[in-house]
Amino acid sequence: MIKMKNVYKKYANGVVASNGINIEIGRGEFVYVVGPSGAGKSTFIKMMYREETPTSGEILFSDINIATLKQKQIPQLRRRMGVVFQDFKLLPMLNVYENIAFALEVIEESPTNIRKKVNEVLALVGLTQKARMFPNELSGGEQQRVSIARSIVNQPEIVIADEPTGNLDPETSWEIMDVLEKINARGTTIIMATHNKEIVNTMRHRVVAIEGGIITRDEIGGDYGYER
Ligand code: ADP
Ligand code: ADP
Repeated sequence: MIKMKNVYKKYANGVVASNGINIEIGRGEFVYVVGPSGAGKSTFIKMMYREETPTSGEILFSDINIATLKQKQIPQLRRRMGVVFQDFKLLPMLNVYENIAFALEVIEESPTNIRKKVNEVLALVGLTQKARMFPNELSGGEQQRVSIARSIVNQPEIVIADEPTGNLDPETSWEIMDVLEKINARGTTIIMATHNKEIVNTMRHRVVAIEGGIITRDEIGGDYGYER
């Protein structure tokens, strides 16, 4: 579903963040991306949803070449991907329901469909009772669940998460992982950058380690492999 061929990324300041990345990720996989700070994990992930473009190399998503996609085709790509961030990125002036519905309103879904889909994902993440609350009235874990609900409301083929538990305490992090596992169990591919050793070593999945812009390890059911 995602394939990178000889992906090389040099930022304008001369930093090489990807130095020849080759990888293939299949439909329905759950992949952890691990490695030290500054290793190139975020860059790797951002290139997948076209937040960054590689300097050279090829990135395929199904049949689309993401690397050379025209600006006007990006929204179409993003609709097929859900993205989750460490800092949630919810809209503070919209309540939970509206934050999730927003993604559907911009693609002009019918009001009936919007109501149905938003209520479905609210139930999936366990926030039906909090639909009318605003982000600042929620705990961090709840805000992250809203952000996950928003990421999947378009029924994307893949969810890309950059340190989704990075701002959460251990217990809340496990709740978030339960939600991501549930989404993966429905067939959605999950790619998650993380520094959470306990999670990687407990909920075993494919582990891709990046160091100095290259993949140094790629192991099904691998362990975290760093002290912290
Ligand atoms: P990680 O997510 O593993 O911490 P990043 O992909 O964020 O790594 O960063 C890899 C390297 O690229 C680092 O040296 C970082 O400073 C650099 N980098 C990241 N983003 C930019 C940018 N927008 N401009 C210049 N350098 C950047
Ligand atoms: P956690 O134990 O995850 O840190 P909190 O103690 O922040 O959670 O919140 C506990 C509950 O109280 C949550 O369900 C949250 O929705 C609610 N809550 C927290 N802060 C507010 C607030 N400012 N207004 C209304 N409800 C709140």
